[in-house]
Amino acid sequence: MEHLVINVAGLLQEATGASRRVLVADLVPDWPELAVVSPIQGHVELCHAGKGIVVRGHLSVKIELTCCRCLEPYDQNVHVSFEELHYPRFDLATGKALRLEHEDIDAEFLIDNVNRFDLTESVRQHVVIGLPLMPRCHAGCLGICPDCGANRNETVCACPEDRVDVRMEPFREMLEHMAQNRSA
Ligand SMILES: [Zn+2]
Ligand SMILES: [Zn+2]
Repeated sequence: MEHLVINVAGLLQEATGASRRVLVADLVPDWPELAVVSPIQGHVELCHAGKGIVVRGHLSVKIELTCCRCLEPYDQNVHVSFEELHYPRFDLATGKALRLEHEDIDAEFLIDNVNRFDLTESVRQHVVIGLPLMPRCHAGCLGICPDCGANRNETVCACPEDRVDVRMEPFREMLEHMAQNRSA
């Protein structure tokens, strides 16, 4: 399925404090900017909190990223845990629109007239926040050789290891000069 739609009609009819657990196993959303390579899995806990439904999500997904060291694509596991409140827009018994305390609530946090809400956009935002800032294919990635561009995880190139760092060159010359003066 492409969308994680939660129906809380039953839960809203129960007493405050009632809860449900929804298993998520085959969510494959269509997110243009994220390469989802495995279905999103985990569970969502729902709790009737009087004014609304508290949603606690615990989900995992694999996203294809590009390693910032070797520039190869790899699959990154992303785990997200989040908690948010969703508000009903309509009274379940009367079907009348409810007056919201906060008029500026984003549409994604509103429960529609058939007591459903779509969690997909929320999950997407949490996944984006959960992505590493410096993606690495593995902790010990050796990156690419700055001279020949070879992937050092795969090949040992013939480039010299001890390249001269041009930024350190004036410092090296100064040290050499000092050493000469001392021996003179
Ligand atoms: Zn890498
Ligand atoms: Zn090289």
